This record gives sequence, structure tokens and C-alpha cells, in this order.
Amino acid sequence: MAVAIYPGSFDPITHGHIDIARRACKLFSKLVIAVVANPHKNPLFTLEERVKLTKQALREEGVSGIEVTSYDGLLVECARIHGADAIVRGLRANSDFEYEFQMALANRDLAPEFESVFFMTAGNYSFLASSMVKEVARYGGAVANFVPKSVEKALREKFPAK
Ligand code: ADP
Repeated sequence: MAVAIYPGSFDPITHGHIDIARRACKLFSKLVIAVVANPHKNPLFTLEERVKLTKQALREEGVSGIEVTSYDGLLVECARIHGADAIVRGLRANSDFEYEFQMALANRDLAPEFESVFFMTAGNYSFLASSMVKEVARYGGAVANFVPKSVEKALREKFPAK
């Protein structure tokens, strides 16, 4: 069975990401989550924090057997290093499609040996995005339904109650 790499900012990891990872695990013999070092999104958590939180969150949710790594530069280089056959991404609403389509075509151009595979979001996570979770946490809202406990705690530390 094939090896897959699931790249993203994971700033921070949410139940939406975990759901995709859990489902991808069933299709691939090995799944590597690759946290990107320098997303253009100006991350709230440092790369080290995002990797640590991702590992903690997976452990907490009982998802085992996933390797968590980080990369800086081209995804296809990271995919090559890990011997991946496929690139896993998640799709929520229409708004994800344009970007994912562009990235998939660019990656195919750069490295045709990798197949991009898309997992449709679970209905109950279709609205869930790291950016939304950060916004809610920033203003003191409850994020317990969106992220595992360790991530909730880390968000509280970033945004202490006033
Ligand atoms: P990036 O900055 O690379 O988009 P993200 O951490 O925001 O990184 O997302 C990584 C991948 O996970 C993307 O393919 C995104 O569409 C997917 N994803 C994020 N949240 C969800 C969710 N709630 N349901 C399904 N897919 C999701």
C-alpha cells in the first residue's frame, strides 16, 4: 500500500485535520503529517509549537502510527524525502477548491510521480478552520468543540483572559 504525506500549516491542528488524518490512515500504509515552516499566513504558533501540538493532539485523540515532521521549501522535496506516493489534502467549501486545484496542478507539474488525493470534510467539521478557532480564542470564546484539550490549553496561554 502507498505512503502519503499530509501537508499544512496546522496553526493549530483542529478536529477537522484530525478527522482527515484518521481517514487517510485507513487508505495508506503510512501517513506523514508535514507542518510547513513558513506559511505566508504569519502563524500564531511557532513551527516547533505546531509540531509539538500536532503530536500531542494525535496522541490525545488516540490516533497512532502517524509520523509528524516539518519542512521548509517545496512540498514535493519533502514528499520525495519521505518516499511518498500521494499528497493528502482536505476540501471544505467551494472556497478551498480554487487554491487546492492550483496547488495540485503546480505540484503535478513539478513532480508528476505524486498523486494529490482529496478528502471531503465531515459535515460537522465543514465550517472548521484554524483561522476561525484562533479568532474565537482571541476574544475569549470556547474552542473545546473544535480542538483537543492540549490545543485548547495552548490557545489559552497565547490569549490569556483579560
Ligand atoms: P494550509 O495553510 O496549507 O491550507 P491548513 O492547516 O489550513 O494548511 O490546512 C491543511 C489541509 O487541511 C488543507 O487541505 C485544508 O483544506 C484541510 N483542512 C483544514 N481544516 C479542515 C476541515 N475542517 N475539514 C477538512 N479539511 C480541512
